[in-house]
Amino acid sequence: MTIIEQYESEVRSYCRRFPAVFTKAKGAVMTDENGNRYIDFFDGAGALNYGHNHPKINNALIEYIQSDGIIHALDLTTHAKEDFIEAFENKILKPRGLDYKLMFCGATGTNSVEAALKLARKVKKRNNILAFSGAFHGMSLGSLAATTEAKARKGAGVPLGNVSFMPFPFGFNKSFDTIAYIENVLKDDHSGVDYPAAIIVETVQAEGGICVADIEWLQRLRDLCDRFDILLICDDIQVGCGRTGNFFSFERAGIVPDMVTLSKSISGSGLPMAMLLLKPELDIWLPAEHNGTFRGNQLGFIGAKAAVEIVDETNLLEDVKRKEALVNDYIEQNILPLDKRISHRGIGLIHGIDMSEFNIDGLADRIAKRCFDFGLIIELAGRKDSVIKLLPPLVIPDDELMKGLDIIAASMREKLAEL
Ligand SMILES: *Cc1c(COP(=O)(O)O)cnc(C)c1O
Repeated sequence: MTIIEQYESEVRSYCRRFPAVFTKAKGAVMTDENGNRYIDFFDGAGALNYGHNHPKINNALIEYIQSDGIIHALDLTTHAKEDFIEAFENKILKPRGLDYKLMFCGATGTNSVEAALKLARKVKKRNNILAFSGAFHGMSLGSLAATTEAKARKGAGVPLGNVSFMPFPFGFNKSFDTIAYIENVLKDDHSGVDYPAAIIVETVQAEGGICVADIEWLQRLRDLCDRFDILLICDDIQVGCGRTGNFFSFERAGIVPDMVTLSKSISGSGLPMAMLLLKPELDIWLPAEHNGTFRGNQLGFIGAKAAVEIVDETNLLEDVKRKEALVNDYIEQNILPLDKRISHRGIGLIHGIDMSEFNIDGLADRIAKRCFDFGLIIELAGRKDSVIKLLPPLVIPDDELMKGLDIIAASMREKLAEL
């Protein structure tokens, strides 16, 4: 029995899927204690869009620590915070015509979702929130109430309420006019759904199985929220920070949410950091009304500023779009022809290979495990974990991207032949 099995809680998860002892990582490659190299298509669940140990980010962090920069500061004013805000305003928000105030939350994504839900309820003086089937918004009670996976909800131990779910008509549920349905619900004084303060949406449901909302639908959702005095919250924790080929995932639809949650890759380096963007008129918080010891991780700010510069100064975002085409072509030519029950959804550098049509529990899992044998770290998503989820770092070199895809195709060929 390893020390992990002996002492670490049974709640551990990824270490079970990827049973190696990892020692080093660079770019898109992780190395274990035996010197085995793995291409990383999991990307820290989207926390490592700029890859492992990006030299520019690492150098900024090392320099800051060596100069005895403040590491912990609650939300005191520091140069690290001021410099990040200035960079984010000038290099991300202003060029996109976005006017948001920045709220630094406790260091995990779920805390920025909690802040968004609290603020929406406070502003609109209504308690209900609309969320979508397939949604994932985090594991603390408020966010969990807006998260759909039955197992995770059961873990709450208390009733999860004040959220009503509407069908998300992409991926697993197709062709349902959710926007018209919500409109009926809002107008119907016998709908049974309490009038909501906000609608929270992922423009691409990641944990839900790589379900990509289409542009027209997102525009109709924005319009609906405007007409019915409801706030629109975009949870961009996983698919923001360049993942879809724009810095924010909602940019492709030309819409502006009232609030945006960011975490995972915002610090650039995998350090914990979470942030809520809110329209200035919503900023009715009282001082310390949503407090926390680790709001404003100073090293996070240092990494985040370097990451903003990478987005601004390199062709990272165009490169994501170029690589999207490579992935689409590869899957079309080498994976879809393996069996007509396989389907593919994706945008930018988040893609799902959907095995649900086979109706074989554990099939995607067998493929993912075989990928690991061949040196690829890859996760599953969606209903019954039936979707193989491709989430490489945005900076992955083409040859490693192709090698990872080859491993998926080889593993699929092998596991499908065994059926
Ligand atoms: C990961 C994630 C969260 C929760 O973030 P944590 O840091 O795990 O608390 C919320 N929403 C989405 C879309 C996520 O992918």
